[in-house]
Amino acid sequence: MAETELEKRKRCPKCKQLGRDNGTLPSTDPTKKVLTMICENKRCEWDQTGWAITLRLDGSLPSDDVNPLLKPKGFPVLERGVSGDDREAQIKAFYEQYNQ
Ligand SMILES: [Zn+2]
Repeated sequence: MAETELEKRKRCPKCKQLGRDNGTLPSTDPTKKVLTMICENKRCEWDQTGWAITLRLDGSLPSDDVNPLLKPKGFPVLERGVSGDDREAQIKAFYEQYNQ
């Protein structure tokens, strides 16, 4: 079966390995959300580096999303197993940086 465009986007832009789903953030556009992905390939230049995929709220890929925002370095990684206020604080910090 052919890979969907979303599956392709979930692959690291650098090494093409499937990234780890790092959670979803609200978008500045209320009809969309932002899925964040992290590369976990130790041999990849982008190991522990994130990228973002803009999605519609139903999870489909908007056709106008031709240039997904890539943030090669300094993209904060949300820690695993963090929940509640800590996670919210991380997401907020992440979101503020993302929107700069
Ligand atoms: Zn990679």
